[in-house]
Amino acid sequence: MHIELINTGSELLLGRVLNTHQQWICRQLADRGYEVARQICVADDGASIQAAVRESLGRADLVLTTGGLGPTSDDITRDLIAQLLGRPLALDEAVLANIKERFSRIKRPMPRSTEVQAMVPAGARVLPNAHGTAPGLAMQIDPNPFRENKRASWLILLPGPPRELRPMFSESVLPLVLKEFPPPPFVCRTLHTTGMGESAVEEKIAGSLRPLLAAGLELGYCARIGEVDVRLVARGEKAAATVSQAEEIIRQVLGPLIFATDDATLESTVVQLLAGQKKTVALAESCTGGLIAHRITNVPGASAVLMCGLVTYSNEAKKNLLGVREETLAEHGAVSAAVARQMAEGARSRYAADYGLAVTGIAGPGGGSTAKPVGTVFIALAAEQGTTVEERFYPFDRETFKFVTSQQALDLLRRALAD
Ligand code: ATP
Repeated sequence: MHIELINTGSELLLGRVLNTHQQWICRQLADRGYEVARQICVADDGASIQAAVRESLGRADLVLTTGGLGPTSDDITRDLIAQLLGRPLALDEAVLANIKERFSRIKRPMPRSTEVQAMVPAGARVLPNAHGTAPGLAMQIDPNPFRENKRASWLILLPGPPRELRPMFSESVLPLVLKEFPPPPFVCRTLHTTGMGESAVEEKIAGSLRPLLAAGLELGYCARIGEVDVRLVARGEKAAATVSQAEEIIRQVLGPLIFATDDATLESTVVQLLAGQKKTVALAESCTGGLIAHRITNVPGASAVLMCGLVTYSNEAKKNLLGVREETLAEHGAVSAAVARQMAEGARSRYAADYGLAVTGIAGPGGGSTAKPVGTVFIALAAEQGTTVEERFYPFDRETFKFVTSQQALDLLRRALAD
């Protein structure tokens, strides 16, 4: 099945709005076994939109467009498509009633321009918009005059605002696509790993997976900051068994480097492990500026496991809030294994947590020395069994440095919990 996606909007090409629809829609489809073959972004002008739709309809079984369904003068997708397909537009009373009802509910007068959103091309199916006034439109073009063999295609027009598009896609578009283009059995699993680079991961696992790859397993790698994802895909009757077998092989080889599967994150894994073991953590962050606390508190249920997250940036805060000793700071410096240890132990004991997790490092660009260059970081974990301190070196820009440090700190805690 050939799918093409057309994102319309001059603001996307001017770099004022990030084209999140491209990622979100492709991901929704890919998770169900459909691949988008081509995606294009075009400006809000008639010629560009019509040319893109005509071209895509010449190739694809399904064409999706986003944007340009609103009431303003630059929202012209509906009119242009109707014109291109030679389908007259007619006022749909049900859609109009729905728009009027929305305005009366929010107690605002309905501008006349809004009525244009109730115009529906002949033969189009209306996709309700629960979060806005412009409905989506789906139409089967059969025969499709733009294809050499005239084979039918579906054309689906979706609104621009993500809060309108996403529910409409999940509630109306996916069921339609699944019904019209039933996918073959498809299984996809993503294993998230940390602590090893992309090529090293590949080197370790590719050999053992060769027989499964020959039998149709698709294997993909995605390197992110502080993380490498391994994506396993199989299609057909044996898809589930193939993916499970591959996962088992990879788990044997990579073992504890795998921290989560599919949509789970490192922080959600840590919260889940802490909650499952009824344990708590207290955080003492310096160079990450609260990022570890931010990531943990993004996970629902964090309140059951997080005692506190202190950003102890200054020496004073390290001393007053964590009990780091003056002499240790003077002798070793704030970025040192000895201080990281006292930060973690202070957090653990002062805030009555099972674990104390601390980071102290030099994010740069200033502040480095020959002995401790920019990128040096100490990560400490205090637990009942004792305290572990790791020295790492992440000579990156500040934001990357913060993220990688938070990733390794969370992973240190995860590995302790998994043991
Ligand atoms: P409206 O009724 O708001 O005019 P519309 O269907 O005409 O809706 P657009 O005018 O094209 O949609 O886009 C509305 C807003 O939606 C944009 O200003 C932008 O903030 C957001 N948007 C549009 N396209 C995208 C996209 N591809 N990715 C992310 N956001 C988008």
